[in-house]
Amino acid sequence: MRCVCTACPLLCDDILILGDRVDGACLSGREAILAALASNPVRPAGGQSSEAWENGLPLARGTALERAVGMLSSARRVLVTGLTGGTLEAITAACDLAELLGAAVDAGLPESARAAGPTIARAGEVTAAWEELRDRADLVIFWECNPASSHPRFIERFVDPPLANGARRRTVAVGPDSVLPDAAPHRHLALAPDRAVEAARCLQLRLTGRHVPDSLDERLAAVCTELHEVIHSAGCVAIVTNDGDDPVGLESWSIVHLVRTIAHEKPAFQIPLGSGLAGSGANVAGAATVCTWRYGAAGGIARADRMGSRFLPAESDAWRLIERSEVDAVVVLGRLSGPLEQAIVARGDALSLVRLCDAPEPLPRPLGHTLQLRCASGTIATSGTMLREDGRRVVLAACQSSTAPQMRELLVDLTAAVRHALAMPPAGGRP
Ligand code: SF4
Repeated sequence: MRCVCTACPLLCDDILILGDRVDGACLSGREAILAALASNPVRPAGGQSSEAWENGLPLARGTALERAVGMLSSARRVLVTGLTGGTLEAITAACDLAELLGAAVDAGLPESARAAGPTIARAGEVTAAWEELRDRADLVIFWECNPASSHPRFIERFVDPPLANGARRRTVAVGPDSVLPDAAPHRHLALAPDRAVEAARCLQLRLTGRHVPDSLDERLAAVCTELHEVIHSAGCVAIVTNDGDDPVGLESWSIVHLVRTIAHEKPAFQIPLGSGLAGSGANVAGAATVCTWRYGAAGGIARADRMGSRFLPAESDAWRLIERSEVDAVVVLGRLSGPLEQAIVARGDALSLVRLCDAPEPLPRPLGHTLQLRCASGTIATSGTMLREDGRRVVLAACQSSTAPQMRELLVDLTAAVRHALAMPPAGGRP
């Protein structure tokens, strides 16, 4: 069976499952697929597998849906989050539910939590598909990031293959991690993360022939000189970045300006990578895209409304809404990042939770009304569409059947039941 690995936003679609063997996946992907195969409720051994749980205790799916309807329709304000664990179809269904409830929507992505707002709105972006890097970039700079740990097969699939024109590719890692062994054609330029913005600005000054401050320390000056030389001799430059930990947004802003400066001279683009394996789901780009099309922004939506939503970065992001007690019920698709899970736990029984995920066991939560509905495994039993982190469409086909429903189906049923409970007319007639 051929399957798409959904353990990280690389969405590798060349995985083969041969009985108990998984070929083509990295270690993390293999573990995720084997765990999914072991827990998929297709042939339940020793009785029916659980369909749902309430506060950790099993109950029937129909009862769980009824209780979820009661919880959501009586809530003061609801947040819909964790979207990155769903397909585009599931995220769209979650947005329908959010609109019915007048809920806030945020996937918990870093850009929505920055007071300065998304980089693309502040400074624009020059990006490209990952195949563009693979085929054209003869210089790849890993800027304060390490795809080898966040996106394990990124280097194997997009950096290791030869260039389309047969030329030799050079790679440089700037930051604490070497990424690759430090030997030709790779170079590691060690630089503390807190110097990254200064390095990008100084390099930009050098590239534009402007004066670089004399006060620059020796290490920074050496890094800038070496980068200036390799960029000068390259034909096409790709700068791979990590957008995960940049709370102010200054680092992403400095890289956008650096890339744009290089692009005035030669082909150059940025490849922004997110948290990867450390994130909460593979469909990061899908969540951002669906929200942008429906609400005009990738997250931080104060009230879901297709006719006009308010985008409030660092105000209506999931973490702040939970932490400031601005919501009393949360609908979660899949899993959440550690800080979001902690914020939910910290609210105790003041917050109710409806979680739709493929976990075979109830996820622990010490306090508070929690309903968890099990859906088909997102790794081996889900059909639908996701977007790879660079925006390429990837179609998922279930390679095993499952007795658990698709996440999208659960959301459609839940939305219909809430609509009925609120005595709302059926949807339709809206753009
Ligand atoms: S790189 Fe990511 S998508 Fe690819 S096999 Fe590994 S975990 Fe799965």
